[in-house]
Amino acid sequence: VIPPITSPIIDRLYEAAVIGAGPAGAAAAIQLKRYGIDPLVFEKDKVGGLLNNANLVENYPGFPGGISGPELVDRINKQLIQVGVGVHFQKVIEVDYEHDFFVINTADAFWLAKRLVFAVGTEPCSIDVPISPGAVSKVFYEVHPLIQKSGLRVMVVGAGDAAFDYALNIAGREGQAAIVNRGNIIKCLPLLWKRAKECPSISYYPNTRILTVQEALNGIELTARCESPEGEFEMAADYILFAVGRNPAANIFSGRLIALQQGLIEAERLFMVGDAVNGVFRQTAIAAGDGLRAAMQICRDYEREPVEVKLDARRPL
Ligand SMILES: Cc1cc2nc3c(=O)[nH]c(=O)nc-3n(C[C@H](O)[C@H](O)[C@H](O)COP(=O)(O)OP(=O)(O)OC[C@H]3O[C@@H](n4cnc5c(N)ncnc54)[C@H](O)[C@@H]3O)c2cc1C
Repeated sequence: VIPPITSPIIDRLYEAAVIGAGPAGAAAAIQLKRYGIDPLVFEKDKVGGLLNNANLVENYPGFPGGISGPELVDRINKQLIQVGVGVHFQKVIEVDYEHDFFVINTADAFWLAKRLVFAVGTEPCSIDVPISPGAVSKVFYEVHPLIQKSGLRVMVVGAGDAAFDYALNIAGREGQAAIVNRGNIIKCLPLLWKRAKECPSISYYPNTRILTVQEALNGIELTARCESPEGEFEMAADYILFAVGRNPAANIFSGRLIALQQGLIEAERLFMVGDAVNGVFRQTAIAAGDGLRAAMQICRDYEREPVEVKLDARRPL
């Protein structure tokens, strides 16, 4: 049984905390602010989260013709600033639950919150390919660090939406992308496959396995040794980008919180939202909707100042 929420006892006690400022966390924070609650928001990397990697978001309502991920992130950023949500750019290391409060541990401080929106998203699956030390700095799992430059040659490993989206993104910046698929099944949206097929600067290698990744002799690019039914061959590129699936972000709950987790969810104190819990339904609008719902549940019982309407302030209809 979860004990009732008691009154604030410590300076740094917040009504609600949000971990992760991707679409889910940002939507929660904006809605909390609309209810007059100042949320405590933590982000370990960039506002917008995974959306920073999206080439073209075509399924978020309100953007006919689509909007690029970074542009949508820019809008989210502006909206957070405009409504006055501050973001602590700190990684949350652990969350515990003590005396009715979430205890949020960052590297240099503890923070207390009555409610927690956990919106940490996913992290990339790594791949079991030997990578030489000299090539490590050329290996990526997300495209956003690469799209600042144009004209890159990038090997993209994978066969899903992300791999094809990344390839189109690179190609759209005067680059060349080679999509390497260890099988022969393509798992992306048909429209992404069609666009990639029609793009002259994207090549596709089915049934191809990467054996090793090494720094090239010229020191400015890498070489991947590959194996296909036709035999082994080498491919040179500036960077290699692995898009071989994502898992929910690592659990940062203490053992005590894990034991209380289900009860806290049922008591509407803990809200697990967005990609971290949505299985295959990982989409921006779903994540944002989750965050919004969590904020509305938090605010449902939140006491608001009654608005006094004076009789003489009324106007005829
Ligand atoms: C290539 C690509 C294309 C996509 N295209 C589309 C599309 O066209 N349409 C669409 O709807 N969706 C698309 N998506 C999916 C969309 O980006 C995600 O569904 C959405 O970003 C999920 O939002 P989220 O807030 O749940 O998680 P995320 O966006 O992953 O955000 C989670 C945030 O939490 C932060 N975080 C994690 N752990 C901690 C911690 N311990 N402390 C502090 N912060 C932490 C992370 O840094 C991150 O910023 C695409 C994704 C990719 C990769």
